Amino acid sequence: MVLDKNSAIMTTSMLLNCIFERMNSQEVQSIQQLLSKPQKIVIVPHKNPDGDAIGSSLGLCHYLRLKGHEAVVIVPNDFPKFLKWMPGTDGILNYEWEQSGSLTIMEAASVVFTLDFNDLSRTGQMANALQKLTAPMVMIDHHQAPQDYAVIMYSDISMSSTSEMVYNFIEALGDRELITPDIANCLYAGILTDTGSFKFASTTSRTHRVVAELMDKGAKNTEIHNKIFDTNTPQRLRLLGCALNNMVILPEYHTAYITLSQDELDSHDFRKGDTEGFVNYGLTLENIFFAAIFIENRDEGIIKISFRSEGDFSVNTFARDHFQGGGHKNAAGGRSERSLEETALYFKGLLETYKSDLTK
Ligand code: 5GP
Ligand code: MN
Repeated sequence: MVLDKNSAIMTTSMLLNCIFERMNSQEVQSIQQLLSKPQKIVIVPHKNPDGDAIGSSLGLCHYLRLKGHEAVVIVPNDFPKFLKWMPGTDGILNYEWEQSGSLTIMEAASVVFTLDFNDLSRTGQMANALQKLTAPMVMIDHHQAPQDYAVIMYSDISMSSTSEMVYNFIEALGDRELITPDIANCLYAGILTDTGSFKFASTTSRTHRVVAELMDKGAKNTEIHNKIFDTNTPQRLRLLGCALNNMVILPEYHTAYITLSQDELDSHDFRKGDTEGFVNYGLTLENIFFAAIFIENRDEGIIKISFRSEGDFSVNTFARDHFQGGGHKNAAGGRSERSLEETALYFKGLLETYKSDLTK
């Protein structure tokens, strides 16, 4: 039987739209019910997928295939080269490049998993097509303020990463023994990148236990670190130099921000992913607890923004309130339609309003 949204509602009515922190037996039952027969599964991460988006999606994909389902990962658009070593990368469909093939598979899907995001708009141009699908959706995600589109929501904002949640998912289904080296390597990479190498506040002792188990299951930790962090090009390092040179430090607000114009990107032969991690440098300064980076994207006509904070200041709220964005308390993103200069000016102007929060 192919489950459509309505039949899923009938068969799992008592489980509808449940938000659960750790999967309890009832929720596990609903997932088990959904996966009790071979399904055609599409897994979708957010636009501009990062290590956690790709790692969790591929980890889950490998697992679901082992369980006898047809599963495919469809990304809204391309992702950085430093993630393309992950097992299963070659089978990923790119919606931007292969729209009609992707749509055919999406329309034939009997279950859709959405990973590492909580609002269909985070899939960009894919959102429209996703909204029209009748297959039940399962959300696995750790972002704040989830939207109500999934039949089953495994949403937990305390989690380090969606990849750690996929581990929990596999464990809850009693399948830890099924974790292969491919699954382990993908999930390890996702946890590694979303925790800033196990450093961010979201990293718990449980995260470390999960990671230890993934190593026991075949995750090659040193290799993964090298593949993700030690593949710099000279152009990227010089772009980092340019970014650091552009950094504006505002001690009175404990804030530092970086701007990068399209011309600066072009003159450093910019490749997707090259600016990953740049925003964090602001936070390495003593007494700086709020950092931002503003990156011009002439193609899209926007400034793409990343925010990071240390401590209580919520960049999720800040991004939501002023830059059409969101994310987590200490790591969020957003966008602006103003010019690069105007965006930076607007940002600086906002800081005065937050002075008491920023100087706590
Ligand atoms: P990054 O700055 O690394 O792109 O993203 C930091 C966090 O904020 C990630 O969890 C990401 O999913 C989220 N994020 C980034 N950009 C946006 C955005 O435009 N809208 C929302 N809602 N979240 C975003
Ligand atoms: Mn994530």
